[in-house]
Amino acid sequence: AETTAVTIQRLSMPPVSNSVISRHVAVIGAGAAGLVTARELRRKRHSVVISHHVAVIGAGAAGLVTARELQRKGHSVVVFERGDQVGGTWVYTAMLESDHLGLDPTRTKVHSSLYCSLRTNLPRESMGFSDYPFFSRDDPDRDPRRFPGHREVLMYLKDFAHEFRLGELVRFETEVVRVRLMEGSKWNVKSRKRDEDEAGFDEIFDAVVVCNGHLTEPRIALIPGMNEWPGKQMHSHNYRVPEPFRDQVVVLIGSSASAVDISRDIAGVAKEVHIAARTVGDETLGKQPGYDNMWLHPMIGSVSGDGTVYFQDGSLVLADVILHCTGYKYDFPFLETNGIVTVDDNRVGPLYKHVFPPALAPWLSFVGLPTKVITFTMFELQSKWIAGVLSNQSMLPSQEEMMEDVKALYSSLEAAGTPKQYTHCMGISQFQYSNWLAAQCGCPGNEEWRVQMYLANGRNRRARPETFRDEWEDHHLVLQAHEDFIKYTS
Ligand code: FAD
Repeated sequence: AETTAVTIQRLSMPPVSNSVISRHVAVIGAGAAGLVTARELRRKRHSVVISHHVAVIGAGAAGLVTARELQRKGHSVVVFERGDQVGGTWVYTAMLESDHLGLDPTRTKVHSSLYCSLRTNLPRESMGFSDYPFFSRDDPDRDPRRFPGHREVLMYLKDFAHEFRLGELVRFETEVVRVRLMEGSKWNVKSRKRDEDEAGFDEIFDAVVVCNGHLTEPRIALIPGMNEWPGKQMHSHNYRVPEPFRDQVVVLIGSSASAVDISRDIAGVAKEVHIAARTVGDETLGKQPGYDNMWLHPMIGSVSGDGTVYFQDGSLVLADVILHCTGYKYDFPFLETNGIVTVDDNRVGPLYKHVFPPALAPWLSFVGLPTKVITFTMFELQSKWIAGVLSNQSMLPSQEEMMEDVKALYSSLEAAGTPKQYTHCMGISQFQYSNWLAAQCGCPGNEEWRVQMYLANGRNRRARPETFRDEWEDHHLVLQAHEDFIKYTS
């Protein structure tokens, strides 16, 4: 039985033609009554949008573009943001968490993992949303570089939010503390405004889109003896500036983009920097070219109570600090789905195409889980897909078919020997995924120049790890990008 109240709103009245009056109508609620109403309206040639009340959690890049896409399809959107501004990760703060290793669950949490010197590792042309280019502004207050500093990305996201009037949708300083599945597939969202009502505030939504980011909750390396090791241990989440490492002997674990940046940052002041990496070719071990105080080692084997760090090849060093640049964990502390969605060894699942849990689709979805991707345009495609599905413009397969697809992904990862924790890691396969998303939305996928620029940047980074942000050869792709941007700027 249909219990949902159905409201029909007249949004505008286009001119009358041939005595057929066509109106633009929003049908709020897509239960049986909503769907029948929509069908009858369409039969009478009215243009119909099915509108849902949707909660978006987070106002970073993913939450902002999701809000825009949902609003474009006529949904009513509330964005919850626990910070006091949009931008998420790109809101740099000098603040550190009380537990630098990030193990204490009661610690004061800081969202952003940015360090002061951070410049983007993707060229700006490839980073921007498809219809809102991230080009250099002729403004002395802005960073014109192709690989700008983090503040420039934040400014870009603020411009984006301003351009599409997204700030009006955001409730700032409001943390979602619980998202609970109710009967009838609605969601109870409990939020708490900073410094206000301990009890929180409950609201009912038709759908929830989770955009809370996944680079905040540290994942650390487990090392035999680490509890007895007397030195300082920290995670890169709490790294901001090199100064505290002056004259120290630092062992840094990891080989990701941040590990590379941070090791070079620290080498400028530290006595010695020893990088321990799981996957390194033997030929690259030892003293690093261009540095007289940086060495590359295999992974740490163990540490001991006298401060020694032993590497797996038998070499050792007496160190002051171990810095874990070992990545982050997906974390949804607010989400109560009766066990339908879980995080198992950093696999969020089951999720159809990394977005919809089959049993809860389309009423719960996630934007931004894939890693090693061109982030903003992928968020854009995922959110377009979600908005289209919620509007009944794009159809999902049956729950069983979606589950089969998830199982097929897991089997293929297993067959390829890919550990579970890399379920959402895409790299080169992102392009096939983006094209698939684009096809669901009936829109173009990544432009060819963007794909080629991503690949060229990867090659350049490997060839010039020290200088790839200031020296490149893909000038023709920059030109192609700018030719493309003209249609959004003229
Ligand atoms: P976030 O930006 O993390 O936003 C999530 C938002 O959700 C935050 O504002 C947070 O406050 C809010 N939130 C979380 N929980 C709640 C809650 N319970 N209630 C209310 N609000 C909540 N990407 C690139 O494209 N290029 C780069 O060069 C690049 N460099 C990076 C360097 C570093 C060091 C890091 C950490 C990331 C980098 N990234 C880069 C990736 C970056 O994370 C993405 O580009 C993108 O900004 C992620 O956006 P998001 O919206 O998914 O998450």
